[in-house]
Amino acid sequence: MTIFSRIIAGEIPCYKIAEDDHFFAFLDINPLQKGHTLVIPKREVDYIFDLSDQEIADMQVFAKRIAIAIKKAIPCVKVGQCVLGLEVPHAHIHLVPMQSEKDMRFGSETKKLSPEEFQQIATEIRAQL
Ligand code: AMP
Repeated sequence: MTIFSRIIAGEIPCYKIAEDDHFFAFLDINPLQKGHTLVIPKREVDYIFDLSDQEIADMQVFAKRIAIAIKKAIPCVKVGQCVLGLEVPHAHIHLVPMQSEKDMRFGSETKKLSPEEFQQIATEIRAQL
């Protein structure tokens, strides 16, 4: 079971944004920016391009709904989307609010937020769904 499946199962806490029957969204614990969110399929698949055509289409539609809410909640120019998947073997889309290109530089220093700040951000994004 991946760490993300354990989050879906409620065994590991997260700052949840949304879920439906097939997908789950929660805040990245090492955010590049405030509002950095991960969208994952509930089905445990490592490589995103091993998802079926239908799953990947549905996941993108789910991610779109989350990105629209992030943009309303967090002041930004656009919400960027990226897939890496080198760390956690459970497919995920990163959604990151950007002011400029450098805000999406993976590998750069991440924001250190308190639990209260994470909670506040999650509440603000959820309120826009
Ligand atoms: P990557 O697999 O390279 O796309 O990176 C995995 C991402 O998952 C990183 O941005 C981590 O900060 C994030 N991550 C790992 N564990 C957790 C967790 N328990 N809760 C939230 N985000 C996590």
